[in-house]
Amino acid sequence: MAMLRQYELVDRVLAYDPKADEGLINRAYVYAMKQHGSQMRASGDPYFSHPIEVAGILTSLKLDTATIVTALLHDTIEDTGSTMAELTQLFGAQIASLVDGVTKLGKIEFTSEREKQAENFRKFLVAMSNDIRVLLVKLADRLHNMRTLHFIPSPEKRKRIAQETLDIYAPLAGRMGIQEIREELEDLAFKQINPEARETLIRRLDEFRTNSGDLVARIEKALRERLKEAGIEGEVKGREKSPYSVWRKMERRAVSLEQLSDIYGFRVVVADEADCYRVLGILHTTWPMVPGRFKDYISTPKNNGYRSIHTTLIGPERKRVEVQIRTRKMHEVADFGIAAHWLYKEGRGGAEASPEFASTFRWLRQLVEMLEHGSTPEEFLEHTKLQMFYDQVFCFSPKGLLITLPRGATPIDFAYAVHTDIGDTCVGCKVNGRHMPLRTILQNGDEVEIIRSQAQRPSPAWEALVATGKARSAIRRALRQAKLNEFSKLGRQMIKSLFDVRGKRASDSVIERALGPLKQENIEDLFAAVGAGEVRPEDVFAAVYPKLALPGDKEAPVTGKKGRPKPGDERASVRISGQSYGAAVKFAPDTFPLPGERIVGIRSPGEGVIIYPIDSPGLEAFDAEPERWVDASWDIPAASSQTFPARFVMTAANRVGSLGGITSLIADYGSNIINLSMNQRDADFYDIHIDIEVTDIKHLSRIMSALNGISGINALTRVRK
Ligand code: MN
Repeated sequence: MAMLRQYELVDRVLAYDPKADEGLINRAYVYAMKQHGSQMRASGDPYFSHPIEVAGILTSLKLDTATIVTALLHDTIEDTGSTMAELTQLFGAQIASLVDGVTKLGKIEFTSEREKQAENFRKFLVAMSNDIRVLLVKLADRLHNMRTLHFIPSPEKRKRIAQETLDIYAPLAGRMGIQEIREELEDLAFKQINPEARETLIRRLDEFRTNSGDLVARIEKALRERLKEAGIEGEVKGREKSPYSVWRKMERRAVSLEQLSDIYGFRVVVADEADCYRVLGILHTTWPMVPGRFKDYISTPKNNGYRSIHTTLIGPERKRVEVQIRTRKMHEVADFGIAAHWLYKEGRGGAEASPEFASTFRWLRQLVEMLEHGSTPEEFLEHTKLQMFYDQVFCFSPKGLLITLPRGATPIDFAYAVHTDIGDTCVGCKVNGRHMPLRTILQNGDEVEIIRSQAQRPSPAWEALVATGKARSAIRRALRQAKLNEFSKLGRQMIKSLFDVRGKRASDSVIERALGPLKQENIEDLFAAVGAGEVRPEDVFAAVYPKLALPGDKEAPVTGKKGRPKPGDERASVRISGQSYGAAVKFAPDTFPLPGERIVGIRSPGEGVIIYPIDSPGLEAFDAEPERWVDASWDIPAASSQTFPARFVMTAANRVGSLGGITSLIADYGSNIINLSMNQRDADFYDIHIDIEVTDIKHLSRIMSALNGISGINALTRVRK
């Protein structure tokens, strides 16, 4: 096929747009040719024949100069040394950004093995395009690539491209109202995917035609006559369906071509809605209708604004025919898709304007003009009911799985959208190959890789970082479960300690005897209830061994200060080991208990056990509730390097170097300062508050006596509640 020459391309544009910028098109033509140089297509044609053909396709849609120029340049960034800066300088910012848009779309890879993803991919394309011209160039690009697909040597690659065309691009062309491109794309893909079926269908449709003569014309005539008799003005247009759409119907309904007789489609276009229903009445009284095929999209329009009446008749010559009945206005919306819909909504369409843009593709130029003159792509999308894509972002997994998320979503949402397990074990992420924080807001087209660790559990802080309900509820569920596990672990330990001290074995089968009396479903629930401070270990003991229960096990006496448990009291106890119980066991704030000091626990329903040093003044609040007291003891191995915070205050002389002396002494004793503040007391002294980390009470004592030995340090005291 001879390549479209420079002057031919310009002539074609000038034919529908006399004001087109001829010079710009010429410059782009020459530039593309020079840039692509000696590059070749798989067909053996020079590469630059491709952008020129793409531009040629777009002239048949009567598109503006910017679109034609973009078509000529569309592969220069990807395949030649051109840069955005260079294109901006030579052709202006608008064209450079259009070319950039097409280049970005080209980088999106579709994994269309998932049928249900196709719809999302189409939305994604629209959302990524921002300017409808980017999408139009991409469609024309795909059309030319499909026309030359047979030159690609690899059959797998040909099939993949054809399938992608069927899944993504053909329906997109259809949505945009460019039926001609849609049908050609479908046919070219069909040829690749199922050449035998296509050949057979074409042959059979030919036979049909030969046997029945010009059936379409005869049915058209019969329909027209009926309308005329009823005095209705209307256009009747019939056509044979394309081999691909016939094949799809056969596939969908699992029928043979013989059974599928409605291979003819007719359209009746009339003046107003009332006429639509009159035509429907005439058709149904003249020919029998096929039950179950009638659809009234006039009273109930489709989501995309499509309105029409569909019916199927056993029509003239007993052929099944599909008939669509609609008004002129509905027809334009159906044919020109989103753009016509938008124009009507804006009040720019209507009866006077419609013949004008219906006769050519002027609607697109109007649209483009409006985009140029201030209307932002956002406004455009909003006006065309595409806003549903606009509050979404489309992201990919490294394997190409497309995940649709609401705007504002983070990698945590992404992880949960892929799978709850992935969300629960997510520790970090890479966005487009770079390590990014989990709070990163995802953008359209981001590739997100989730880094996981089996040791990870959802953090309460995540709740504020997610935008999806799925992630939020999964996080809450996991947090609840983690807390329950901690309660359960603590409860088991407390019960065991009480049974131990009373010389009984706390095996599961023994404990289970308490389930009924204590109204617990199962043993895990019982452990959790004990750990959460809702059931006392003594209650469990009394339920299992009612006769061995001690006074106070069942009902706690209120005894005032004397009720405080003493060591060896045969109470349940909590052991504070190096392994933290997290949510179930907490130190009371600012009490700073240290290993080596006596501690007690206070059961706090719903919160677990709160640990206090025995001399904490805060404990007085619980003197009246001895049943809440739990023995607690340290379970820290001697060689442990685990540290605990301690706080003290001192007064130091205002002398050079005294603070330095304090800090280096603390360091010498193998401790870290975690917090330090100073207040000037008077000209000679200041108060120093220090929090340090120590391993136990002895460690703290050694440090404090050493500090006392420094001259100029007075009134050294430990501080705690
Ligand atoms: Mn291309």
